[in-house]
Amino acid sequence: MTIARSNLVSGLDADCVADAPIGPLTWYGIGGRADMLVSPHTIKTAAEIVRRCRHAEVPIRILGGGANLLVDDDGVDGVVLRLDQPCFRAIEFNRTGSVTAARIGGGVDLFGLVTELARRGLQGFEHMAGIPGTVGGAVRMNAGGSGGDIASVLDAVEVILLDGTTRTFNTDALAFGYRESTLPEGIVTSAVLHLEEGDPLEIRQNVKTFFAAKKAGQPMADHSAGCAFRNPVDTSTGSLMSAGKIIDEAGLKRLAHGGASVSDRHANFIVVQPGASSRDVQSLMATIRSMVAQATGLQLEREVVIWSRHSHA
Ligand SMILES: Cc1cc2nc3c(=O)[nH]c(=O)nc-3n(C[C@H](O)[C@H](O)[C@H](O)COP(=O)(O)OP(=O)(O)OC[C@H]3O[C@@H](n4cnc5c(N)ncnc54)[C@H](O)[C@@H]3O)c2cc1C
Repeated sequence: MTIARSNLVSGLDADCVADAPIGPLTWYGIGGRADMLVSPHTIKTAAEIVRRCRHAEVPIRILGGGANLLVDDDGVDGVVLRLDQPCFRAIEFNRTGSVTAARIGGGVDLFGLVTELARRGLQGFEHMAGIPGTVGGAVRMNAGGSGGDIASVLDAVEVILLDGTTRTFNTDALAFGYRESTLPEGIVTSAVLHLEEGDPLEIRQNVKTFFAAKKAGQPMADHSAGCAFRNPVDTSTGSLMSAGKIIDEAGLKRLAHGGASVSDRHANFIVVQPGASSRDVQSLMATIRSMVAQATGLQLEREVVIWSRHSHA
């Protein structure tokens, strides 16, 4: 069944732009438009939009900070939902003794959050320093690095499921792994983190150390979507191998397709120059996969999420 696109948001408290350029809202800054970009003003409205989309069989996608996302040049169909209104950016603290439960909106920016928690002398989140994006995207991707992932401080996740119902999942009922979890599909509207009181100076120093390590090893100032490929599992030991090292050893650093190239700072980052297209990035990814497979027999799996009219993954 289809309904007029305007019916998807009619009577609801939401901003809505038809044929909206969404590529510029990503870290890559490239890619096309969405049929409709919607910013709900309340969680209830977001849930109603999810219900209406489902009823009308209109695809819906959630845009966070766009830090792990590549939008196809032809853009995407359906609705792109953006959690940029104040109700998705709220932060509440609930202190019991030396432990604080912090309820963080899904649209809260990670850079600002790291700074705010350090300012309050709350420790446990410093390892997320330098990782761009929103809390919702970080929970969805179980973002993290050498110091651990977001799941290590996560107590609960509040989600609007694809049928429009809202649920809270305690993390002990979920399994989190490397950049993945068993959290059901839906919109992460907030996350509850458990944090300990600590020495503000020490916390600030930890943040600086994590940030400096990222800046030294990754092209933070370039346009990218972070690691292009997941680190593959070494089947003989069960441990993760570095996709960056594998790509580097295959001699692919600085390989370019159009305006996209393999970063010379970190070979698992594909960076773009002004004028690059999404197609440049996708064809470079395909070349890397096939050359790595030829050289090593390994099939690299994509970490970057690609949105296109042809795939709704
Ligand atoms: C320079 C750079 C460095 C990076 N370094 C790291 C790193 O060290 N470690 C790491 O893990 N990642 C890293 N990344 C990748 C990125 O920061 C993370 O994957 C981050 O969690 C993406 O969050 P986002 O809000 O930008 O999500 P987006 O890119 O907007 O979306 C990614 C996916 O999450 C979904 N999503 C977004 N918000 C929500 C929500 N509220 N509810 C449900 N689903 C949602 C989207 O639909 C999409 O499927 C890096 C990226 C860049 C550009």
